[in-house]
Amino acid sequence: MCKMKQGKIVKGIAGFYYVSVAGSGIYECKAKGAFRQKKMKPLVGDNVSIDIIDEEEKKGNVVEILPRKNALVRPAVANVDQALVIFAGTSPKPNLNLLDRFLLMMEQQNVPTLICFNKEDLASEAEIQELRDAYGTCGYPLFFVSARQQEGIEPLRAALEGKTTTVAGPSGVGKSTLINLLAPEVQMETGEISEKIQRGKHTTRHSQLILLNEQTYIFDTPGFSSLAVDFFEKETLGTLFPEFVEYEQNCRFTGCSHIGEPVCGVKEALAEGKISQSRYNNYVQIYNELKDKRKY
Ligand code: GDP
Ligand code: ZN
Repeated sequence: MCKMKQGKIVKGIAGFYYVSVAGSGIYECKAKGAFRQKKMKPLVGDNVSIDIIDEEEKKGNVVEILPRKNALVRPAVANVDQALVIFAGTSPKPNLNLLDRFLLMMEQQNVPTLICFNKEDLASEAEIQELRDAYGTCGYPLFFVSARQQEGIEPLRAALEGKTTTVAGPSGVGKSTLINLLAPEVQMETGEISEKIQRGKHTTRHSQLILLNEQTYIFDTPGFSSLAVDFFEKETLGTLFPEFVEYEQNCRFTGCSHIGEPVCGVKEALAEGKISQSRYNNYVQIYNELKDKRKY
């Protein structure tokens, strides 16, 4: 006798998938079924059909992956609407090159991204101005918050509402503090989850889906301290800086690298303050990195 239910994979560890079924809780599942022949791997965020093996023990098999909106490579999650990247405004001082690499990774995967600077309570006005200058012209929505003082949280909450957002950032920036603030009910909600899968501050080596409310989810993903750019091409790097695109039309040469060429729309926009120096510098740095890599 098999009994099918539909749910969402909220975590995957060592061949087990934890599937949340509305009204029934979390089932520990293995992957069985036709999709395995297709070499399809279930991802956190997947909507799936499960075949219940043991209702008491809450065990089952994932037998079908329902159609996906999208599937990201980094982080490996499915059905994402947007990303939220969190850095601290200060302490630790934000590594804007790392932030720009994250933005590139999301551009490449067509995921709209929000930028959040936490610890606004510790940052000086000059530090905040510097970040506004760096990111005010690139079009990514920008949030300054203090998780500790609970300031600036409502606009961020509103931006997440009704969506599934993948949340990332280096460690120490206050990501856990902020997530707990956004999802106080999660601590209760995950009471059940945490027994089984132990969500905790120091266990985010795996991505995990957290329910904020019926329509709103976030993926808590592992922190990162570096991001390789090897999957970009230097020729198309500029197209992944959304604020460059409208000015590229003014470049004299097609395929302009916006570095050494005369009559470059991007450099003109930079000179006029329409593109930030910080973003441009990181573009040049990553471009040169890709160029050097090609030589070997
Ligand atoms: P995570 O590693 O990114 O998950 O960071 P945590 O949430 O563990 O926070 C790292 C440290 O920063 C902790 O000591 C937090 O109390 C502190 N912290 C988090 N948010 C803020 C904030 O808005 N302001 C200040 N001053 N400290 C914060
Ligand atoms: Zn150019």
